[in-house]
Amino acid sequence: MISPLFRWILNTFTRSDENQDKIMLNLVLFGPPGSGKGTQAKKLTEKYDLIHISTGDLFRYEMSNNTPLGEKAKAYMAKGELVPDEVTIGMLENKVNKHLDANGFIFDGFPRNTVQAEALDKFLTSKGTQVSGLVSLDVDDEEIIKRILERGKTSGRSDDNDESIIRNRIEVYNQETAPVFEFYKKQDKAQLVHGIGSIDEIFNRLCEAIDSNLVV
Ligand code: ADP
Repeated sequence: MISPLFRWILNTFTRSDENQDKIMLNLVLFGPPGSGKGTQAKKLTEKYDLIHISTGDLFRYEMSNNTPLGEKAKAYMAKGELVPDEVTIGMLENKVNKHLDANGFIFDGFPRNTVQAEALDKFLTSKGTQVSGLVSLDVDDEEIIKRILERGKTSGRSDDNDESIIRNRIEVYNQETAPVFEFYKKQDKAQLVHGIGSIDEIFNRLCEAIDSNLVV
């Protein structure tokens, strides 16, 4: 039997017709705020030649350009609340639609609740593809708060500087986002990866999880 990773590599390098039998590698990089998704996403993007989509980064870009979308997101982000689904899902779909010729995507910060997960599944199905797997970085709350406060010293993000906002983001994660793990667990696509250690150690753990358990 051909392993899924091998099938994906074969398909990527032998594809002659872009529209024919297209197989994408679509990864959801999951975990609480401050768990290292952004750092690892960059490395995974390079290794697997994917497009990295961070909804947090997209919102910050819109905000820095004072667009109507940025205006809508601002108040929610400042409080550590989720931006409404209709705004977030539309923005995500627009971004994916711009890169339909990609080998696949790393979704970072999306889906953040089960409504978004259902929307993502439906949307990818309509494009003839699917979520290949979700890998979740497991980091405890105290470590997260420490990391985010440290990041806040240089990130310029107001939501990284205030411990009560950080605690609210963790609360929102536990209440609204954590169920997304179960959503993909039911599809046999979710894996938990230990998120404490050096950047390279964690990266290797992620790669192992991805290479051993992909659905493509
Ligand atoms: P972190 O993971 O460190 O909290 P992000 O950059 O992923 O940071 O997100 C920052 C903020 O952007 C969130 O607290 C939320 O307000 C908003 N946001 C990002 N992604 C989503 C999403 N998928 N749905 C709703 N809001 C989102």
